[in-house]
Amino acid sequence: MNEDELKEEAKTCDNCLCWNHHCNAECCRVFKIGKKLLRRYSDRILRLTATPPKDLINYYELHGMKNYFFNEDNYDKIEEKEDGYVYFHRDCDMLEGNLCKLHGKPEQPQVCKDFNENKAINSNRWFITPNCLARYK
Ligand code: SF4
Ligand code: SF4
Repeated sequence: MNEDELKEEAKTCDNCLCWNHHCNAECCRVFKIGKKLLRRYSDRILRLTATPPKDLINYYELHGMKNYFFNEDNYDKIEEKEDGYVYFHRDCDMLEGNLCKLHGKPEQPQVCKDFNENKAINSNRWFITPNCLARYK
């Protein structure tokens, strides 16, 4: 589909469910952390330099963090970009196909509840992924 067609379809869609055949739930497969918040602990291990809020710890743990350490072996790819962030590529443990196993449950991290197609924003913590519905609204 071209850009205009996607924008037309986006007018009829107001939630992730009707868009995930386009985005493949890509926001659940990557996250970023500012380089300043990370320190290299060893060749293949990065460590957080500050304690994040509890909800964010939960989110990071669902994305492979253990005791504040990120072991590169647990990721498909870790990219340091010129924008000042490190991007961790790895499916969330709670992702099944393109669906979240915690959707609608109290255990789902608040950050996930807040970041959806209507509130998706670029910030120092989150970013709108390339095929997100928010890009076409
Ligand atoms: S908890 Fe659910 S919404 Fe949050 S990143 Fe994991 S799969 Fe996605
Ligand atoms: S927030 Fe965007 S990328 Fe994530 S599932 Fe919804 S539409 Fe897809």
